[in-house]
Amino acid sequence: NISKRLKRVASFLPKRAYFADIGSDHAYLPCFVCQKDKTAKAIAGEVNEGPFQSAKDTVRHFELGDRVDVRLGNGLEVLEAKEAKQIVIAGMGGTLITTILNEGKAKLEYTEQIIAQPNVDARSVREWLINNGYGIADEDLIEENDHFYEIISATRSSNDTSIHDKLDTKQLLFGPILLQKKPEAFYRKWRFEANKLERIIKQMKLAKDSNNRKKISLFEKEKDWMEEVT
Ligand code: SAM
Repeated sequence: NISKRLKRVASFLPKRAYFADIGSDHAYLPCFVCQKDKTAKAIAGEVNEGPFQSAKDTVRHFELGDRVDVRLGNGLEVLEAKEAKQIVIAGMGGTLITTILNEGKAKLEYTEQIIAQPNVDARSVREWLINNGYGIADEDLIEENDHFYEIISATRSSNDTSIHDKLDTKQLLFGPILLQKKPEAFYRKWRFEANKLERIIKQMKLAKDSNNRKKISLFEKEKDWMEEVT
């Protein structure tokens, strides 16, 4: 009964993964992955007591206690150095994801892959990754229950991947890989967002507040981009 969203997130992990799922809630993702791949291991991190207990219940239910370790703590603080090779942070806003990554920077030294699924503001996640030595290796965008979900998989950049290291503002907004692949949901998402932005711009213009002028022209530019790419 795992969601299409989490299944898609899981598909970005390699076989034999040793990953941390930060903000794991019910630990559905690590249990799903470890059930399918008997060589996989995971750490489920949770900062809140309620979800922490739910995570332990799920792990007990699937008898995965030897391979899914549930830990209580804030962000990457639950990890020892060199522990997890992949880090998944899914189902939160982009700003919270970057805060968790920023605060846990010291733990990322041996991280090979970061998989992020921001519910909103994917742009700030891409920005963080690029500015911190990661290159965006793959992306997807799916639609489930009237929501759009972007998934970003990043790997540590080597010196010769500099093409990926620099992204322009358009690539940051839409995703460099998504701009190339343009999955079905990409068109729906960005048409939807363009309409939303149009309504916001109209409201702002009606307000006749001169402080809004800069913001309006930024929004108009972004709306044009959205229409251009779809
Ligand atoms: N990752 C799951 C998913 O994608 O379905 C659960 C998403 S749930 C909306 C977000 C979870 O992150 C909550 O259970 C919350 O307690 C947890 N969380 C929020 N901030 C956190 C932090 N700084 N460290 C660890 N967990 C956090």
